[in-house]
Amino acid sequence: EPPYHIVTPVMHLSRQDVSRTFQEKLGAPPTDSAEELTMIARRQLRQDFLTADMGVTGANFAVAETGQIALTENEGNIRLTFSLPRIHVAVVGIEKLVPRVADLALFWPMLAHSGTGQAITGTCSLVGGPRRDGEPDGPEEFHVVLLDNGRTRLLADVAQRDALHCIRCGACLNACPVYRTIGGHAYHTTYMGPIGCVITPHLRGRDDWAHLPYASSLCGACAEVCPVNIPVHRHLLQNRRNTAGGWQRLAFKFWAWTVQDPLRYRWAGKFLRCAGPFAKLWTDTREWPAAPAQSFRDWWQKQNPHPNPLPYTARERGLKKISSPPSLGGEDQGEGESRSS
Ligand code: SF4
Repeated sequence: EPPYHIVTPVMHLSRQDVSRTFQEKLGAPPTDSAEELTMIARRQLRQDFLTADMGVTGANFAVAETGQIALTENEGNIRLTFSLPRIHVAVVGIEKLVPRVADLALFWPMLAHSGTGQAITGTCSLVGGPRRDGEPDGPEEFHVVLLDNGRTRLLADVAQRDALHCIRCGACLNACPVYRTIGGHAYHTTYMGPIGCVITPHLRGRDDWAHLPYASSLCGACAEVCPVNIPVHRHLLQNRRNTAGGWQRLAFKFWAWTVQDPLRYRWAGKFLRCAGPFAKLWTDTREWPAAPAQSFRDWWQKQNPHPNPLPYTARERGLKKISSPPSLGGEDQGEGESRSS
């Protein structure tokens, strides 16, 4: 199954789930112990690493100064992937480039801190080429595939290009109330959660992924935790703007026109209270709560009969009885305020 989270891909599985899979696929005995489960995985994977002809990794960063890729992990599986097989292929998004090795002194701890709450991850590796003469391990061939896949399109978008600053720490996923409720598989994307909803429409096409930016309450928790200060919730809003069709724009213009006038707003409320049966598109997938018998405004009017003799609708339109303006407190006081300011 696809990853559930960009940092911890099987966080949705319990020890019992893992044990069941090991029983089915590997014929392993049932166990509830994390240590025993780890040893079962280790025995199986070690053999796979030793016999694999090619290892494929990503990269957390790519260093332009030295041509190296930087990899960070806690499990050691990435190090086995690039050091044991004969060929190592690294698939690297072009946004992963950093100018200098020294920049890793900032980015590696930042990624570990925001991703897993560590000062630094257990293993950090810099890979700069195939095995050299005299070296005991490492691949015979080393290939780096620089992946664009829509990234230059996003780079060309001045309003949203800072989404490429993302270091894939996953902090915005952990903070997002929508991700925490629906989980990573509901998005059906490689990158899930708030940042996935920002970049996927750019990487894979707006038409097919226009629904993603709506998987957000726009609460801004994602932007608050982001270590590289991407205004994720604003980009989600921008994505909604980018994909809004003609009828949506028209509907929102009509809505804005309606709520700007108290009388129109009042009549819209009256209409909506009896519009339930006609809102089929909405009620097919959602409940339409029963409307109260009277609106809050009507209730308030009954509780507080207004002394203003103007008709109700005229008052709503902002007409007032003309009365003398309140005193400003006299000329002397005004001069005094002016002096003190
Ligand atoms: S958008 Fe920010 S918080 Fe979310 S994964 Fe990227 S760097 Fe981390």
